[in-house]
Amino acid sequence: MAWLVRNIAEIAKFPLRETRRFIHVAAKNHQLASESQDDDLPITLEENPFKKPRKICVLCKYNVEPNYKNTRLLSQFQSSYTGRIYGRHITGLCKAKQERVEREILKAQNCGLMAVYNKNPKWMHDPKLFDPDHPFRYHKY
Ligand SMILES: [Zn+2]
Repeated sequence: MAWLVRNIAEIAKFPLRETRRFIHVAAKNHQLASESQDDDLPITLEENPFKKPRKICVLCKYNVEPNYKNTRLLSQFQSSYTGRIYGRHITGLCKAKQERVEREILKAQNCGLMAVYNKNPKWMHDPKLFDPDHPFRYHKY
């Protein structure tokens, strides 16, 4: 069991959060196991150390509500070449926020606040909320 503790100490130097969490859980369980049982028995983990954190979309993460007046934000979800509204597989938004963004973009276009076929050139160099060339999920088209 000493080799495991040594390995854990070496792995702890890695900056990965997942690894640290695993080590924390493993060390905690190791303490629990070593108090009552033999060291050679397998350790039973309380929670899955490889469980991925729940994905949350960028608008929910920062609690941003899309609005037709905030055209600079909405333009992030529009192609700068064709004016097409990007789909969920590209933006990575949750279903509710994606529908809201699409509705607000159409509203802004109908109000004349946003262009239909292009994006304001002033906003071309804004920091990207997502990379349209590398979508979250690939699509068959
Ligand atoms: Zn969301």
